[in-house]
Amino acid sequence: MFMPNYFCMGCGKEYSDLKIKSNWFLVRHGETDWNKEERILGQTDMPLNETGIKQAEATANLLKDKHIDLIVSSDLVRARKTAEIIAKATGAEIILDRSLRELYCGSLEGMYIPEVNEKYGSFLDRPYKELGGETFEEVEERAMKALLNHRKDHEHKNVVLVSHGALLGLVLKNIRKIEHAKSTGLDIGNAEVIKLEIGEPCDNCGGDLYESVERRPSA
Ligand SMILES: [Zn+2]
Repeated sequence: MFMPNYFCMGCGKEYSDLKIKSNWFLVRHGETDWNKEERILGQTDMPLNETGIKQAEATANLLKDKHIDLIVSSDLVRARKTAEIIAKATGAEIILDRSLRELYCGSLEGMYIPEVNEKYGSFLDRPYKELGGETFEEVEERAMKALLNHRKDHEHKNVVLVSHGALLGLVLKNIRKIEHAKSTGLDIGNAEVIKLEIGEPCDNCGGDLYESVERRPSA
């Protein structure tokens, strides 16, 4: 009987057995006071709060026996601090990359989310660019460019990539080839880990990124 363990992120084809080159773990930063207060962070630099530190420590604990070779992190302090906590547990070195910063939200930064929702619409609909920020397309482009660059240099290493909710959602959207509005990746919890496998090319679509079936998003 065919028991799938992985699915291809590009086309969905299932595999029971794969030759894995390396594991990449996408991690969102821990909680900050503005997350808790439901305020838009964007690129505002805000430290982890006590809950955020605990979340990062729990994630570090999960990752400590995963043979992590390298941590690549956004340089914003909430990501950097999360990366440092993971580095302490895993012994991996950290590379900072400002291309992994969160979506810049212009004049929305610091505003309360319920108020923003009322005034400008929900997360996917807000006119970030008109308000001085970036478009989703711009963030997706800079994120994928950064990811491909790091992959080129470190493909055979097990890598933890620490970044932000919207950016990581856009990375998943891109790899899973899903429509923006249907993106399930855009709801990633603080310090949540998403594990990707880099493997042999898929014989259906040629992509080589896989996820474990237990995490498969519902269609
Ligand atoms: Zn495929």
